[in-house]
Amino acid sequence: MKTGYIKIFIGILLLCLLSAPVMAASLNEDRFDDLGQSAALLAMDKLNFKYGDSDVVVLTNAGRAVINGQTTQKAVSGITKISGLQNGDSTLYQINRADSKPLWFYFYNKDTGKGLYLEPDTAFYAMSESDAKELSSSDAFSKVALVTGDIDIMLADTEDGNATQKALGGNAFSLLSLSNAWAHGAPYDLMYAASLHNHFCPGVSSGYIILKYIEEEIPLTDGTSYVVISAPTWCKEDVYPTIWDMTPGKGGVATSDVFTSEDEEILTEKYGTRPAGIFVLWNSKEKTGTGIAVGFQFDSAEWTGPSWGEKVSKTVDMVENLDHPESYVSVMKKFTVDEKMLANLKNPMNNPYAVCGMM
Ligand SMILES: [Zn+2]
Repeated sequence: MKTGYIKIFIGILLLCLLSAPVMAASLNEDRFDDLGQSAALLAMDKLNFKYGDSDVVVLTNAGRAVINGQTTQKAVSGITKISGLQNGDSTLYQINRADSKPLWFYFYNKDTGKGLYLEPDTAFYAMSESDAKELSSSDAFSKVALVTGDIDIMLADTEDGNATQKALGGNAFSLLSLSNAWAHGAPYDLMYAASLHNHFCPGVSSGYIILKYIEEEIPLTDGTSYVVISAPTWCKEDVYPTIWDMTPGKGGVATSDVFTSEDEEILTEKYGTRPAGIFVLWNSKEKTGTGIAVGFQFDSAEWTGPSWGEKVSKTVDMVENLDHPESYVSVMKKFTVDEKMLANLKNPMNNPYAVCGMM
């Protein structure tokens, strides 16, 4: 009798051991290709668009999310295969999220103002290959939400807007800001910076406007490069690693440890604009440079609509106003920089605005 139980127990144990690797192996990258294809099929149906439609963008954290140890970039291939949406056409962007976050897809049709938000059913990951193949496109997802994604329509009908906010949950601001900025003509390099930043906001837009202003004001020539001393810091910081390749690992952007909000207030009062940083065009051979302290003025008009609308709406305004940096940016001071001053500006124990004689 006892031996019988032991035999059954060993049998079950063996079965578990044998079936475990099979289940783990079933979640390979092809599963995510299938998932991307299903998402695209569903979106083309629900949002009524054809292959390669330039009025549609898809945002996803596929390629960033890692599910059960498996990277998810194949979902991007699946989407492109079926829908024709792709990064090279500015109709597909991979949005930065921590690898531990669940996978999602958001398709947005700017022609109709409708969006489709999809979250895969986690049961789909555990299924056998044959079971997964038999599913209809919608069965792979636990969440399929058709929403109004156009910020103007959402603001005109707040109830509709609230419903979108609810359906997109924690991803709402990120997805609505990115898709609306895209629909209003955000250029590829700014979309790229915002994709890394995780969302599109007035802050990241201000960084882009400042950087383009600097490129005009003190253009790079042979043998020169930019040095950025950023104080105060805000969302704008994320454009420097993406567009100027100033990544933290390579030294990146200098900041001040001693610059305070009181210093910021003094400068704002004195110069009539908010300080945004010091930019130096540096010639490393001649050991000389030109410095500019830049001010940035955000739109300070009072917001009276629903709170979820403010940042998205103000971002869209900034995107539409990219050709007019002078509405936001001004030169607080322009000065010559030598080697000693450059070292002092970059020293985190200094207030850089004091170094260049502004306070
Ligand atoms: Zn931001």
